[in-house]
Amino acid sequence: MNLVFLGPPGAGKGTYAKRLVEKYNIPHISTGDIFREAIAKGTELGKKVQDIVNSGNLVPDELTNALVEERLRQPDCANGFILDGYPRTLNQAQALDGMLSSMGKTLDAAIYFEVDEETVVQRISTRRVCSKCGKVYNLITLPPKQDGICDDCGGQLIQREDDKEEVVRSRYRVYIEKTSPLIEYYRNQNKLFTLDGRKSVEEVMKMLFNILGGIKKK
Ligand code: AMP
Repeated sequence: MNLVFLGPPGAGKGTYAKRLVEKYNIPHISTGDIFREAIAKGTELGKKVQDIVNSGNLVPDELTNALVEERLRQPDCANGFILDGYPRTLNQAQALDGMLSSMGKTLDAAIYFEVDEETVVQRISTRRVCSKCGKVYNLITLPPKQDGICDDCGGQLIQREDDKEEVVRSRYRVYIEKTSPLIEYYRNQNKLFTLDGRKSVEEVMKMLFNILGGIKKK
């Protein structure tokens, strides 16, 4: 299954993608995770994108498109993939269509997690990530068993630099301006499925499985 997850920062895309990985045995490809990992490791890519990512702006399309194309050509994408946080501009969406068609593939669905700005700000300000394994928590809806400590690996939980309120509001504005036109783009391709991303994780998962079940039978 070839899927795109759309929605503002804090809509839960990463959380839901991670839960689908095992069930469908397809990789979760988060361009944000790829950039953050490169920054943490201090690679050439990391140095190039560090200031852009920390300020909440978008990395140039050309660089991002090349990175995704290389990733989609890896053998683990043979049965499908979940793209989370990509595409984020019309240029990226068109580039994705082009790269998929050159690989003889098409997108099955774009799942749109609809969430308003205040929910996003409230959620992200209470989001924490494990500094060691990257697992995502929310102090209110998905708290760790022990304060400040990752349930899985014992790593320390931290707040992402771009999860501070001013940066989150600016990322939301970037989303509205640059990414939200993709909703129309995928609607016009009859590939758009919209979910109420304000609902609980369990409710959203249920709706998501319903949608994906329908797609698989097609
Ligand atoms: P995310 O974890 O998806 O919220 O992404 C974190 C940051 O990485 C974004 O605010 C951008 O700076 C950068 N980024 C992630 N994906 C993309 C993309 N598809 N295009 C441009 N920049 C991106």
